[in-house]
Amino acid sequence: MFEHPQRRLYCLSPWLVRLLIPVDYIGTYSLYRFREKEPIYIGRSDTCLRNRLLRHAHTKRADYFDYDIQWTLEKCFIAECSAYHALLGKIDNLIHPPPPKGLDIKCPFCRSTFDRIRNNRLTISKKVNFISS
Ligand SMILES: [Zn+2]
Repeated sequence: MFEHPQRRLYCLSPWLVRLLIPVDYIGTYSLYRFREKEPIYIGRSDTCLRNRLLRHAHTKRADYFDYDIQWTLEKCFIAECSAYHALLGKIDNLIHPPPPKGLDIKCPFCRSTFDRIRNNRLTISKKVNFISS
């Protein structure tokens, strides 16, 4: 079970979102329903986390949320991908998080990325004889 030991859930209400999250900060978030310990949806905002959560609060998509402010678009994307892969099959997210606009970055947790990195490693195909002096 995906559970963060120090994670605090906040009521997904507009006034609390406005109180907690400054304007124009980027970050990731998870949405929860009442009495469920695991998130039902994970997401991020590359422009304004506050506005994104306010939209969720107005549509009453969930009862609670948690969030992390991120300092770069790359970290924001990787954090969302990490949660997405950890919770795959348990959350409502239907598609893999897209990379931020204008950034050529791949999800480090996808099998295809792992295979690409592994296949790019240098391999020694024959035995190397070290010359000792
Ligand atoms: Zn991935």
